[in-house]
Amino acid sequence: MGEHAVLIAGAGPTGLMLAGELALGGIDVAIVERRPDQTLVGARAGGLSARTLEVLDQRGIVDRFLGEGQVAQVTGFAVTRLDISDFPTRHNYGLALRQKHIERILAGWVDELKVPVYRGRDITGFTQDDTGVTVTLGDGGSLRARYLVGCDGGRSVIRKIAGIAFPGWEATVSNILAEAEMREEPPLGIHRTAFGMHAFGREDYEIRDGKIIFATEGPVGIMVTERTPGAMTEPTLEDLRAALVAACGTDYGIHNLTWISRFTDMSRQAETYRQGRVLLAGDAAHIHSPVGGQGLNTGVQDAVNLGWKLAQVVKGISPDSLLDTYHAERHPVAARVLRTTMAQVALQRTDDRTEALRDIVTEWLGMDELRKQVAAEMSGLGIRYDLGEGHPLLGRRMPDLDLATSEGPARVYTLLHKAQPVLLDLGGTDGVDITPWSDRVQHVRASHDGPWELPAIGVVTTPCAVLIRPDGHVAWVGNGTQDGLQAALTTWCGAPG
Ligand SMILES: Cc1cc2nc3c(=O)[nH]c(=O)nc-3n(C[C@H](O)[C@H](O)[C@H](O)COP(=O)(O)OP(=O)(O)OC[C@H]3O[C@@H](n4cnc5c(N)ncnc54)[C@H](O)[C@@H]3O)c2cc1C
Repeated sequence: MGEHAVLIAGAGPTGLMLAGELALGGIDVAIVERRPDQTLVGARAGGLSARTLEVLDQRGIVDRFLGEGQVAQVTGFAVTRLDISDFPTRHNYGLALRQKHIERILAGWVDELKVPVYRGRDITGFTQDDTGVTVTLGDGGSLRARYLVGCDGGRSVIRKIAGIAFPGWEATVSNILAEAEMREEPPLGIHRTAFGMHAFGREDYEIRDGKIIFATEGPVGIMVTERTPGAMTEPTLEDLRAALVAACGTDYGIHNLTWISRFTDMSRQAETYRQGRVLLAGDAAHIHSPVGGQGLNTGVQDAVNLGWKLAQVVKGISPDSLLDTYHAERHPVAARVLRTTMAQVALQRTDDRTEALRDIVTEWLGMDELRKQVAAEMSGLGIRYDLGEGHPLLGRRMPDLDLATSEGPARVYTLLHKAQPVLLDLGGTDGVDITPWSDRVQHVRASHDGPWELPAIGVVTTPCAVLIRPDGHVAWVGNGTQDGLQAALTTWCGAPG
């Protein structure tokens, strides 16, 4: 029986990101993945949000994604685009890049970090005891680990076997997604009819002046609303034909189906993200409509919240209870995502009253203050973990400031490449001493010339020092004294050594 410190079920975006985070933390981690290779059939996520780009920047790999995708103002709410080019971040945009490429790039990074991936294997069961989890594989084999993380998607076997409830809302709309050839050219782009939304596109496209310009040749990507939600079987070409005729009056001579799938607005969230030595992340923990493009982004950010905590617990630096902060911090974030996606689904309805409501919401989102608030939420830049009252930075993402250090210029995010906490000492906090934590916390003395500004909040008081967690969130803000620093270091970085 193979043994690892941590086993991850699923090499989707969440599992891959988590594996990378744990490997950076020096943990013996392995992934078990059902698919024989990273190939992803069908269309899923279409891009990365500003905050996900920031977390990839924190690990020094964002250029791999930027080099392949198209930067654009793609943050949105329902049908309204929200321009974030005035937000104080290096990544004041989204990145259009298909999920298959996102996964391939992440898998390449995980491979460089030498994480073993057991491909073509299915986790079919597990039992947990006081010291670990024994995982059963579909081929009869088994693996043992101290912790198991279910990153195995919306139908998570790990969640089901753990008996974790997945309450939420049934589907109200159902859409068929497919790629096929069409004898007649359909009108490319997104269309709204009294019947619902439908869209036609092609694999290759360019974004010019904020508009998507699709290639003129090749198979057509199709999204069409079905007449009734709730079908439990896989859709067929006949289902697609019927939905096209109902929505468009023609099936455009559809033939040669490459792939077909269905998505709905079913919204559910795991009641708990942790049960003993078993944790859930990504779609295994939350599912919702793809409108707003937050699913993959939320999963990747779950992984970045959990990875360093699990690494510290496995290494014995922090108590097991640190893992409870993962649920405490990330469950409310996905609950908000469910709320915003449900609101957006409602706003996409095509009856006259919803049209009127959408017009009003669009007008409201044209107001600067509201645009900033909603865009901060949709881009992930506004996420705040509840770490108590205090300076506005507390619990929020640390801005990627340019710093001057004794070793030359540096960026805050460069300091986070190793996924270790950083005490950024900007002077004025008399003789900060973190010797008892010096084996795990980087103490960086630096200065920054310029204001500290947060998205949708604006300029905040310049602190004297900040404790930055490996996920880039601020755990303590110094205002000239060291009050609370030892407690914050103990909570987030373990007991003094
Ligand atoms: C049409 C559509 C459009 C979308 N658009 C966006 C978007 O624009 N932006 C966005 O952020 N999100 C979007 N999403 C959501 C996004 O695709 C998902 O949120 C994302 O894939 C979740 O990643 P994950 O790693 O948590 O789960 P998954 O991607 O589902 O990965 C789970 C992995 O686990 C493996 N697995 C499952 N069971 C087992 C098992 N028992 N043993 C071993 N391996 C197993 C699977 O093979 C898979 O590789 C969209 C989704 C759809 C359907």
